[in-house]
Amino acid sequence: MKNTQAELAAHERMKPGIITALGFLGKDDRSLADIIAADQEAWRRAGVDPDDAVAFLEKLRDEGQRGLGEPISVGRRWVVSSGDARGVLPCPYEDGSYHKNSIEVMDEKTGNHIVYSDLSIHLLKAHRFCQGKGSFFRLDPEIVAAMMD
Ligand SMILES: [Zn+2]
Repeated sequence: MKNTQAELAAHERMKPGIITALGFLGKDDRSLADIIAADQEAWRRAGVDPDDAVAFLEKLRDEGQRGLGEPISVGRRWVVSSGDARGVLPCPYEDGSYHKNSIEVMDEKTGNHIVYSDLSIHLLKAHRFCQGKGSFFRLDPEIVAAMMD
């Protein structure tokens, strides 16, 4: 799949040590367009609208913040811990900056576990980017969909 100039520039900024130490790509060596297309297909297969996934992740974040750093049980299924670091992170697509936080969700039903931030939510919402395979903050469509089910 073809990559635009903006995608190529964003891809560069996603590499380790530019915006974050680990970057956004994990071990994934596919192009941004290919990563996004494959994940869009995965959302379709899972029968989940990525915007509904965004709403789900935002809701868990908001509920988790009430735990003030301590793990909090949400809906008798998810255990959410939210941590805060000072400062903001710019989006690799350069369209805004996002609070440097970290939300960890453990799903007691499936045993799945995800870690994300306000920037991860924005990347999914605005760019449909779930981060590369092997990335610590990847929002894998199959895993997120199973957690929502
Ligand atoms: Zn952005």
